[in-house]
Amino acid sequence: MKLYSTRDPQKTVNAAEAIVRGLAPGGGLYIPENFPKADLEGWKSLSYPELTEKVLAGFLTDYSPEFLKSAAQAAYGPAFGENAGKTVKVQDGLYALELWHGPTCAFKDYALQLMPRLLVEGKRSLQRTETTRILVATSGDTGKAALAGYAGLDGIEIQVFYPNAGTSEIQRLQMATQTGDNVRVYAVSGNFDDAQTGVKRVFGDADVAKGLAARGICLSSANSINFGRLVPQIVYYFYSYFRLAEEGAVQWGDPVDFCVPTGNFGDILAGWYAKQMGLPVGRLVCASNKNNVLTDFITTGHYDARREFYKTTSPSMDILISSNLERLLAHLAGPGKVRQWMADLFATGSYTVDADTLAALQKDFACGCASDADGAQEIRSRFEEDHYLCDTHTAVAFHVAERCRTDAPMVVLSTASPFKFPRDVLAALGREVPDSDFDAMRALTEATGCEAPRSLSALDSLPVRFTEVIRPEDIRTAALN
Ligand SMILES: *Cc1c(COP(=O)(O)O)cnc(C)c1O
Repeated sequence: MKLYSTRDPQKTVNAAEAIVRGLAPGGGLYIPENFPKADLEGWKSLSYPELTEKVLAGFLTDYSPEFLKSAAQAAYGPAFGENAGKTVKVQDGLYALELWHGPTCAFKDYALQLMPRLLVEGKRSLQRTETTRILVATSGDTGKAALAGYAGLDGIEIQVFYPNAGTSEIQRLQMATQTGDNVRVYAVSGNFDDAQTGVKRVFGDADVAKGLAARGICLSSANSINFGRLVPQIVYYFYSYFRLAEEGAVQWGDPVDFCVPTGNFGDILAGWYAKQMGLPVGRLVCASNKNNVLTDFITTGHYDARREFYKTTSPSMDILISSNLERLLAHLAGPGKVRQWMADLFATGSYTVDADTLAALQKDFACGCASDADGAQEIRSRFEEDHYLCDTHTAVAFHVAERCRTDAPMVVLSTASPFKFPRDVLAALGREVPDSDFDAMRALTEATGCEAPRSLSALDSLPVRFTEVIRPEDIRTAALN
């Protein structure tokens, strides 16, 4: 299958090239020319890795079936075990698709356990022999998931930069204890923006690129605009539907609605891709926190990033420019219009889509938003009424899901373990909050009877490998190291 840029339909590439490149030349994102058809009957009883192999094969036609099979097995076999794509009942008609049973306890593991393997294989098939050095600026979740995905891979190095005082204790230790010879982790004095700006500057620095190229090193990023991160996320929509059908929660062929806590629009877009492939998806509900730029957009067709940025208790959704939305718009309206809208966004901070595009969008997507207080109330209600414990991001989606229910079953995508944000979750339950995250984890277990994932509770006994704090202006030196 060929892919083309959201801003230029002329230059097509195969999947390996799209994955190795990341961004298309000219700043567009790669999207598939068409959607492979799902074989629902043939796929419904497959294991998670087997289903992954089938979904990937439809898009990544230039990768060998043997490779896809072994990559899917390696990514999801031991790392997720029985819990890959686990869907649990919360109430009649309301389900949670728990995506946090992977190594770092957040849904980004699904993409970042698989994509690095696609990158290594893509480089091999394109006969690229350079070392790929991946730079990541992170506010928390992405850094650890990327470290875990890229650690130990041939021809890859990864450097992660996080704000020194900007992550939780757990998130910091998750990164600082990462093993592997090809990983480096730096705390940056300053906030997330300082770290991100420093990394962006390095990407744009021609002297850095030249210096590294002379040593056979090429810079790359791990963020969610890479097509290789999108495809693995399609799989769990299918897997969840099949489990609901199996237990009779949905009649085979009838629609299921999905509600997705959204930031960069990658996770929910994967659900739309599943629908294009033939999965009976009713509506995709886009749930935002107080940074509700997408709620306004889906309601009015006017995207306006010129607004105050809020730090919320669901930090992975604190986003004003939702990158993957560009992909949806290109599928609905074509690259010509998208090029104009993105130019408007760059020049003025806003753009407005035409009535046809808005109607097409509203046919498949509903939306809503929740404040931190709404989310906290939701955590408490779901626990007290349903004995279901969720994290702050998932809580936003539960809040919105209840307001967008139809006759179809509703699946809420649960994107992080509640034990990743133990202090906020405890506070939401009306409990006293200890200072340390580890005390908070123990208190949360006591209050709820739910066990913390081992990979989090064992963190305070692991050796800390990285303690270096650097200034934002030293990111360049670190990247050149
Ligand atoms: C990244 C993230 C999200 C948002 O996902 P997008 O694909 O960026 O929309 C939601 N919840 C958690 C816990 C995340 O880490």
